[in-house]
Amino acid sequence: MYVLVLNSGSSSVKYQLVSIQDESLASKGLVEKIGTKEAFYSYAIGNGEKQKEIRPILNHEEALSIVFNTLTEKGVIRNLGEISAIGHRVVHGGAKFAETVLVTDEVMQDIRDCIELGPLHNPHNLKGIEVCARLIPGVPQLAVFDTAFHQTMPEYACLYALPYELYTRHRVRRYGFHGTSHRFIASRAAEMLGKSADTINIINCHLGNGASVCAIQNGKSVDTSMGFTPLEGLIMGTRSGDMDPAIIQYIMGKEKRSIQEVDSMLNKESGLLGISGTTNDVRELFECIRKGGAEAKRAELALAMMTYRLKKYVAAYMGVLNGKADAVVFTAGIGENNAHVRKHALAGLEFMGIEVDQSKNENAVPDADIAAESSRVRVLVIATNEEILIARDAAAYVRSIQK
Ligand code: ADP
Repeated sequence: MYVLVLNSGSSSVKYQLVSIQDESLASKGLVEKIGTKEAFYSYAIGNGEKQKEIRPILNHEEALSIVFNTLTEKGVIRNLGEISAIGHRVVHGGAKFAETVLVTDEVMQDIRDCIELGPLHNPHNLKGIEVCARLIPGVPQLAVFDTAFHQTMPEYACLYALPYELYTRHRVRRYGFHGTSHRFIASRAAEMLGKSADTINIINCHLGNGASVCAIQNGKSVDTSMGFTPLEGLIMGTRSGDMDPAIIQYIMGKEKRSIQEVDSMLNKESGLLGISGTTNDVRELFECIRKGGAEAKRAELALAMMTYRLKKYVAAYMGVLNGKADAVVFTAGIGENNAHVRKHALAGLEFMGIEVDQSKNENAVPDADIAAESSRVRVLVIATNEEILIARDAAAYVRSIQK
């Protein structure tokens, strides 16, 4: 028996088919550029080689039909009845969902009600659910929300100091994102440190193209750096992170830009890309520095700004946790792979009991502990796996209805 993990985006669908028995990966794949003639479908069976087909794929229904047909035609499963449940990544659950839920008509409506909070993702997440309901009716579908893990944030951490009515009337508050990754890391860190999931205290740095830090106390999110949208907090690939909101009106006047253009600038042209002027990709920034020249200086500055902002958050969250973090954790593309960022984000924090063994840091292969022996706080590098957590939630539901 299997569970299917689906991440349905605007022009792409990613899936993993996971065995309920042993969590092994039966198949994984990706349909991209949906709606175009250059759409492609790439997939792998088990640990086998990646196959790729380019062909026109008009919509999500066609994309998922191709996925389901391939799974049966290639013999990954004998029939679609072997899929016991589907776990969907849903970005925004608003304040309504603090955990994974079975999709019902009411839940669909609640996800629809959150479209205005997550306009870039929720419509496409919903489409994935609707198409699955049509193509394989009767299979239970679970919604796993990016925001759910952060619903434990206290009001004083998640409200903005704006007129209170904006919160009650329009739901303006901090929601936080990357919740599935932060939850996975909390449970994996607990395992690595021999603690129970409800006593673990960590500061988790999820550093991908999008990036957020989360303060986790007794296994629960008590604060996180992303807010009403993913724009707040750290300096990211193309997002500015924290800034003075008064800048928006100022730039609109000076650069003769509309509010939409400035919003797009903050989300798509800022962060590492905006500062370096060359790339949002950390690996490319290092390549740029290696080559030297004028661009290298800006690349160095971008990295210095990014690690400095990260350090401020780590230090602040150590305060949030009353100095009692068991570990600082690094995860996602940059967190798992970049020793320089890890080194600079924690440099000078020895006074908080955080000491990195630089040789372990340089040679870290996740999952690893890179703290010095003498360090009071552990420093972990953990490979995140949001899909496995979605699969676990779906599998837990399947088990619950078998009882
Ligand atoms: P996303 O948020 O899009 O899922 P990722 O978690 O893949 O992003 O992170 C992308 C970032 O991670 C990029 O800046 C990239 O340079 C960096 N990265 C990914 N793999 C490596 C690697 N092997 N070495 C250094 N940096 C890496």
